[in-house]
Amino acid sequence: MSLALVLGALLAIGCVVAVALPYLRDPAPADDRLDRPGELEQRQLELSEVRDRALAALKELEFDRAMGKLSAKDFDEMSARLRTRALSLMRQLDADATGYRAVIEQELARRVRESAHAAPERPSTAAGVSTAPACVCGTANDPDAVFCKRCGARLSAEGARA
Ligand SMILES: [Zn+2]
Repeated sequence: MSLALVLGALLAIGCVVAVALPYLRDPAPADDRLDRPGELEQRQLELSEVRDRALAALKELEFDRAMGKLSAKDFDEMSARLRTRALSLMRQLDADATGYRAVIEQELARRVRESAHAAPERPSTAAGVSTAPACVCGTANDPDAVFCKRCGARLSAEGARA
């Protein structure tokens, strides 16, 4: 009787685990995939939230000061602290934005460099075709020449091919 209960309980637990396992396991990889590209965005969001809170607190402080709830000394001290905090957060947000921009600009520069590398290859091969094979004696020969027209030396295979 008690054994049947234990077995029943184990079976129930096993069923729950079996059903829940895919749900427990799934979010981890999915989160990973989603987090990587949005990591910076998420950070920006968090930073801007903290900045907004600091700015709101600053406004509240100014209100309290206007209502005479704060001494000038307290107000100066607290507002300076909040201002510094908000400013550093803004700088951080800015730095992140420029960092992101820098990554994009680097990628763009790489692509431009690649296309610039690809482009000159055509003119250079075209120039190679149009240039007559030069002999060691310094004589320029016809593009289809196999031997130098001046000294009779055999022209390079490359020159002969061209
Ligand atoms: Zn020659």
